[in-house]
Amino acid sequence: MMIKEKMLIDGNWVDAKNGDVLNVINPATEEIFATVPKANESDIEWAIQAADKAFRTWSCLSVFERGKFLRKASDLVYHNARDIARLMTQEQGKPVKEALGEVNKGAEILRYYAEEGERIYGRIIANAEDHTESRVIYQPVGVAAAISPWNYPVELLAWKIGGALASGCTIVAKVPSETPLAPVAFVRCLVEAGVPSGVINIITGSGSTVGPVLMRSPVIKKIAFTGSTETGKEVLRGCVDTLKKVSLELGGSLPMIVCRDCNLEAAIKGAVRRSFRNMGQICIAINRIYVDKEIYETFLDGFIAATKRLTIGNGLLNDCDLGPVTTSAVVEKTKSHIQDAREKGAKIVCGGKKPEGKEFEKGYYFEPTILSDVDHDMLVMKEETFGPLVGVMPFGDLDEAVTLANDSCYGLAAIVFTESLSTANRLSLDLNAGNIAVNNVDAGVINAPYGGWKDSGFGHEHGPEGLHEYLNIKHVRMRYL
Ligand code: NAD
Repeated sequence: MMIKEKMLIDGNWVDAKNGDVLNVINPATEEIFATVPKANESDIEWAIQAADKAFRTWSCLSVFERGKFLRKASDLVYHNARDIARLMTQEQGKPVKEALGEVNKGAEILRYYAEEGERIYGRIIANAEDHTESRVIYQPVGVAAAISPWNYPVELLAWKIGGALASGCTIVAKVPSETPLAPVAFVRCLVEAGVPSGVINIITGSGSTVGPVLMRSPVIKKIAFTGSTETGKEVLRGCVDTLKKVSLELGGSLPMIVCRDCNLEAAIKGAVRRSFRNMGQICIAINRIYVDKEIYETFLDGFIAATKRLTIGNGLLNDCDLGPVTTSAVVEKTKSHIQDAREKGAKIVCGGKKPEGKEFEKGYYFEPTILSDVDHDMLVMKEETFGPLVGVMPFGDLDEAVTLANDSCYGLAAIVFTESLSTANRLSLDLNAGNIAVNNVDAGVINAPYGGWKDSGFGHEHGPEGLHEYLNIKHVRMRYL
């Protein structure tokens, strides 16, 4: 049965005023199984006005009151996690256990921000004059807008809703066109938790229609954008006239450095997980692996063998490691990066094609692919593939490893495997990225700041820094007469 989902505006579940819809495709079968409204300008304006109206009351509630709503919503997300996860698998492709992990993370994020909101502390600063002091206080910026992509459709929205609502902002969120259903189901939990009308408004529709309306609106005071670097730059340009606060979590080209003194088993396990989890459709997926030449062959053999053990399938029906990629465009981009590398001399040492078998005839399936004999003239080592592809090359010494790793316009994250404390420290300092993972591959945790350098953007999500993106600073100078 076809699912017909709606948008949330001012507490109402609605269609687009002109009745337009967008189709949602199951990447495992290539079938259209749902539609969502395709918002037009007047729908978006309604959502902005609703958020503006709701701001006055929401921002006046105490952080403890706001936290109660977030905690209740978090419980409801846990309660409904399995159903939300199945929707996500249908529209995004990741296996249900992965989707479930993501939805539970969404619940955890709401709870975290309920608590972090209680820790918005000000400061009192001594003044030179008698009986005078400076107070620094934080106040919500106003109406926030969120734009997020399809790779982690619930988690990336939860980062923004959690930060905005805890800080006292109301929000208009544009959910990804490819994967709108799980985010809308997640937001239903916030509505069920009693979050007042207008505090959260969810718009479905095309980014190129919704984005500009949000950017030029004088009512919206902050845009939290996660997506590609190209679109992020467009968003920044679009916010110039209204001078909004902007945070940009953009693309990456993540280097992993494998040193000769590392725990090789852990490095291989980490490389497999972080190169191919979610079919490489992660901003912090490993794109480039640099291995000390002394252990290069051993690492590569182990990496290939472990990658070949990954199972692929329709994640709704099978208990597999990987599903299809989300769109046919991802397959095409992955193929084009492979072809470019092959023309320049790279070798495919694992994968490189659609898996064989009747069950893969339909669906955006592709084998996890490893390239050797790569160099920095190849797209795989320069551009973000955002698909199941990684290049591996040897390095001679640490200076060379650092130079190669930093040879990128991106700076989101980097991974290092070494048993040496001084090498770990040196690489942590020398790598130009906002997040460094040493002897692990999970560079982001909810209570520490997460953000990129260079073309990977600016601003933060997670941690108190993520909350402060939604707050204005006010200095109050008091004289006690
Ligand atoms: P995208 O830039 O095409 O789209 C992101 C969002 O922007 C979508 O909701 C889309 O509808 C919307 N959009 C499209 N055109 C727009 C416009 N003109 N104005 C405003 N919004 C517009 O990115 P994508 O392909 O959906 O996602 C993949 C990208 O996201 C990758 O580059 C990935 O690295 C990045 N990403 C970054 C992070 C991070 O935390 N740094 C996390 C996840 C994904």
